[in-house]
Amino acid sequence: MSSEINTPRLDWAGLGLLYLFFWYFSGVLQTLLLSTAGIPGFRSVFFMSFIWLAPVLLFPRWTRQLTAIIGIILWIPSVISLGYWGIYGNEFSQSVVFIMFETNREEAKEYLSQYVSISLFLGIIFYTLVAWLLWRRLRPVYLPRFYASSLAGIVLLTNFGAPYLACLTGNASFYSATEKLHGRMAPAAPWQFFIAYAQYNNQLNAVRKLLDENLSLPPLKNLVDTNGDKPRTLVLVIGESTTNARMSFCGYPRKTTPRLDALKESEELLVFCNVIASRPYTIEALQHSLSFANSEEPDRFFTEPNLMNLMKQAGYKTFWLTNHQTMSSRNILLTVFSRQADEARYLNQTRVQNETVPDEVVFEPFSEILSDPAPKKFIVIHLMGTHAKYARRYPEMYKKFTGRDHVPKVLSNNRAEVYNSYDNAVLYNDFVVSSLIDIFSKSQSYGFLLYFSDHGEDVYHTPPHQVLGRDEKQPTPDMFTIPFVLWMSPAWKENHSSDLSAFTERKYSNAHFIHTWSDLAGLHYDRFQPELSLVNPEFKTHKRWIGEQGRLRDFDQLFPKH
Ligand SMILES: [Zn+2]
Repeated sequence: MSSEINTPRLDWAGLGLLYLFFWYFSGVLQTLLLSTAGIPGFRSVFFMSFIWLAPVLLFPRWTRQLTAIIGIILWIPSVISLGYWGIYGNEFSQSVVFIMFETNREEAKEYLSQYVSISLFLGIIFYTLVAWLLWRRLRPVYLPRFYASSLAGIVLLTNFGAPYLACLTGNASFYSATEKLHGRMAPAAPWQFFIAYAQYNNQLNAVRKLLDENLSLPPLKNLVDTNGDKPRTLVLVIGESTTNARMSFCGYPRKTTPRLDALKESEELLVFCNVIASRPYTIEALQHSLSFANSEEPDRFFTEPNLMNLMKQAGYKTFWLTNHQTMSSRNILLTVFSRQADEARYLNQTRVQNETVPDEVVFEPFSEILSDPAPKKFIVIHLMGTHAKYARRYPEMYKKFTGRDHVPKVLSNNRAEVYNSYDNAVLYNDFVVSSLIDIFSKSQSYGFLLYFSDHGEDVYHTPPHQVLGRDEKQPTPDMFTIPFVLWMSPAWKENHSSDLSAFTERKYSNAHFIHTWSDLAGLHYDRFQPELSLVNPEFKTHKRWIGEQGRLRDFDQLFPKH
């Protein structure tokens, strides 16, 4: 204890070792996840690991015992998380909890037994051995009481208190500050399970409330299915952040949609290039497209049946197949749709939206669903499409656009790279959508497949080539112009003889999509408005509103050339 007299001499190496020990249990996994999940989790863990220094600084005499106890508390969840990573390749998250409670236990067990391997087991042993060796080298760090308490206070306050600073200044609510804190704690052991479960529970309550409200809605009046009882399958593929301004089938000079181009040329595919989204954000846009809500009457989403209700009422067995993250407060409405479906499959189990799960994961479950014996099937497939980070959306072999051809000259090399990665993501999306058409076609199903993207994205495309992403307050055309394509099975085409190719130039807001879908599916009811159907002879040009309620703007007035 002689070192603590007078001036405090900090044993930096000892302190560093202690920190390394605590960091180890979350840091190893976050380091492994760096290439897929990126820096945020790594950063959170870097800061969160400091909190464990507090007890050992306050009670240095008990360093060995304290570190042993904390070590075990951190080790157990970290091994589970690492094992999970070893098997599934991503992080344990609220989405995983959701899937655990939603899917068939037997299936999960089978999957697990298939992947628990000797190398995973040896990896865990090695990981544990390193932790134990680290622990053996730990030594107490003695500081005068005042310094020790101050340091302990600082690490605890900065980690747990910082998010609440914004509350004091009135810039955030207590709730949002707590959400932020949970976000920081989520990647770190041992919090991941508690946070994951709490987040799951919160979302589920919100989902239940919306579902209850939806259940109490009256059905659509006088619904008639003009296709009668003939067995059929209708597929709706919803893309993500893809603008038609970057697709060669709508005139983009780079060949980013070669497979769909070919289908268009052989007249198997109808391509509509003048369709826009009403909002540049997933939930808001889909809320309009998949219900009777629109820019002027957004509340109709809650007060009237939605597309799922309509299809179920029409006697379809409904399926929801998604590669989107399942559980986040942003995605509640998507979860509601999936819960309304008779069957839902969740293929993305990540904690944050932009992690890597290429869209081709939907192929196999799609094929399985197509062979379901139900006579009338409605299948929704929600893709990750070309969501940022674009370079994470496609496998290496789709990295085709790398040079400067057709890249705006003003872009720096870094921006040109982002520009190129978006085109590569569009190219991969072309493979995904055309493959879905191919799978559907080969299944000999009677029906059609329709693909649109929820909204667009501007990736340095609109002059002066400064904008990346989407912002409704500073709109550019690329944020709204979306791909909209229709593939019909040969027999369906024959039985529905009206030539739709005359309508492909129509200017349409996808906020009214439910009318187009109803029309294509042959569903008529009191609410149905033929003048809002893109494929109806009675179609009338309408104002294409964009923006939020109260701040609506006319897209065609803003961008007369589109
Ligand atoms: Zn979106």
